[in-house]
Amino acid sequence: MYDVLVVGGGPAGMTAAIYLQRFKLNVIVIAKDHGALSTTTHIENYYGFEHPITGKELIESGIAQARRLGVTVIEDEEVLTINALETFDIKTNKAEYNAKSVLLATGMGRPNLRVKGFTALSGKGISFCGICDGFLYRNKKIGLLGAGEFMAEELEVLKNFTDDLIIFTNGETLKVSVSNLQVVTEPLIELLGTDYLTGVKTKNGEYPIDALFIAAGTPSASDFAVRMGAFVNPKSEIEVDASFSTNIPGLYAAGDCIGGLWQISKAVGDGANAALAINKYLKSKTS
Ligand SMILES: Cc1cc2nc3c(=O)[nH]c(=O)nc-3n(C[C@H](O)[C@H](O)[C@H](O)COP(=O)(O)OP(=O)(O)OC[C@H]3O[C@@H](n4cnc5c(N)ncnc54)[C@H](O)[C@@H]3O)c2cc1C
Repeated sequence: MYDVLVVGGGPAGMTAAIYLQRFKLNVIVIAKDHGALSTTTHIENYYGFEHPITGKELIESGIAQARRLGVTVIEDEEVLTINALETFDIKTNKAEYNAKSVLLATGMGRPNLRVKGFTALSGKGISFCGICDGFLYRNKKIGLLGAGEFMAEELEVLKNFTDDLIIFTNGETLKVSVSNLQVVTEPLIELLGTDYLTGVKTKNGEYPIDALFIAAGTPSASDFAVRMGAFVNPKSEIEVDASFSTNIPGLYAAGDCIGGLWQISKAVGDGANAALAINKYLKSKTS
């Protein structure tokens, strides 16, 4: 069992991990890629570098620094689910982990679906959490948007509530098998309905549904938070207190995913402060 599992290998997650390691805690970082800095070629406002550096250089150097100090960093692995029980059970696309505490540092929240009707109907038949809202649509026709392993996880949840499911990949190639279900791969053009979602329109047809669950791409911090019952604001930012703690004991969040200034310096500061708070939390549990 790890003391802390950090989801995200960006400036917030890696800084936290370095501090946590130096507190002699058993810490692991899981990162699916280089995050917001993947494509950044010119950083010149972050302290300590005389000449501009690339995002790749900064992230790779941060990971190497953490590893040198003894942090376990797992790259190219995607966290799919986190269950908050007595401790935390974390499932990725490759393995399962158990930790006493979790720091969410997955960067900025999910992008909005750029489809007509999405904003107006969010919360009115459009949901981001099967385990939260699936029961509301038991035995109804449910649409599920996504094409990968996150969608497959959500599908397993929704199957508990109805057999009448239809998958929309919104133009993406389906990456998982979904036997015996209708799969629509055309891009979505419009989400239909005035007061409440009634259907989905694609280039070649209209599909009446009672609800659409969104599980596209990779789950973000807010997806994890919502499923665990942690507070998330309407901008999909995780709500934390002054100690970077969510309302779930042992669950912390830092960096872009909690909102505020979207900058490396702020993410680094969040990570350091969250690490101090997590250390205090874990020590209080053992004393
Ligand atoms: C194009 C661009 C240019 C920028 N330029 C600057 C700049 O010049 N100066 C500056 O200060 N800031 C800049 N920023 C902002 C800066 O990149 C962010 O504020 C900072 O990276 C936030 O750090 P973070 O650790 O919160 O998140 P990120 O750096 O986004 O890291 C998120 C981490 O979470 C991981 N992750 C996400 N979901 C999962 C999952 N389900 N499972 C596993 N891992 C997951 C990602 O792989 C990544 O490792 C720029 C941002 C962009 C997009």
